[in-house]
Amino acid sequence: MRLCRSISDFRAEIASFREAGQSVGLVTTMGALHAGHMALVTRARAECDRVVTTIFVNPTQFGQAADLDNYPRTEEADLALFASGGVDAVLIPTVEQMYPPGDETIVETTGLANVLHGQVRPGHFRGVATVVTKLFNIAGADRAYFGEKDYQQLAVIRRMARDLHVPTAVVGVPTVREDDGLAMSSRNVRLSPEHRKEARILYRVLTEAEEALTSGRITVAGDLAAMAGDMVHGETSGRLRAFDMVDPATFIPITGRIIGPVAIMMSVEFGSGDDTVLLIDQKEITP
Ligand code: AMP
Repeated sequence: MRLCRSISDFRAEIASFREAGQSVGLVTTMGALHAGHMALVTRARAECDRVVTTIFVNPTQFGQAADLDNYPRTEEADLALFASGGVDAVLIPTVEQMYPPGDETIVETTGLANVLHGQVRPGHFRGVATVVTKLFNIAGADRAYFGEKDYQQLAVIRRMARDLHVPTAVVGVPTVREDDGLAMSSRNVRLSPEHRKEARILYRVLTEAEEALTSGRITVAGDLAAMAGDMVHGETSGRLRAFDMVDPATFIPITGRIIGPVAIMMSVEFGSGDDTVLLIDQKEITP
């Protein structure tokens, strides 16, 4: 595995793959790798001749400085994992390389970025769309792999790629979970032991929602949201920050009776002050 600390090195490496006629898959990450990230690498390995990855904790997608400062950084372990997963090249750029002095260009999906999770985290999806556009332009990959766990992020990236005629195909990969159902996330390590136990509630709510909708016990969006609030606030110290129901194809919010496929995106916040951890999860359900 080739470790590149400059964009030009990474590009030269990828150019050599291209000259050999090989296809290239891209996996972008912020490091602190776990099995969820590696599922993207495994999928890329299966579909592309070469797999290239990036580790970059992107400052423009963080709202609070504390969240950025607290983001876990485990570079050595990350490199070992990528190497064992068969990654061919990894780029670890500096902030100055990604955002050259005087940088003033942003990419924003103006509608999708400002609804749902985007309202909880203003500017977040603008930061994501901007950095992913840069990484797509740097890598020029055939395919790029993203987790369905970050459901709205995946939708934002798909729309950005479509609107800007990006030649890289965007591929979604199912969420990898811990044994108790908690979606794997780099943020999970920041949970206290008590909050880690309580964090199961996200998956429990989504599973319960699926049962309620498919059995016909609940048919109305508001009732489902009320059930989620009761479960989170009744059983844990967490705060339900979002429980959004949208049409998976259009992202239009579903209110009233749920008659077709629904994507639920929820977020729950644990802890307080600088120790606040916001967890997200998602499920598509067809009643
Ligand atoms: P991050 O390092 O959190 O920015 O995540 C990098 C990529 O890994 C994104 O495409 C995420 O959606 C994906 N990812 C993170 N956690 C998981 C998971 N538990 N299962 C599948 N993909 C994931």
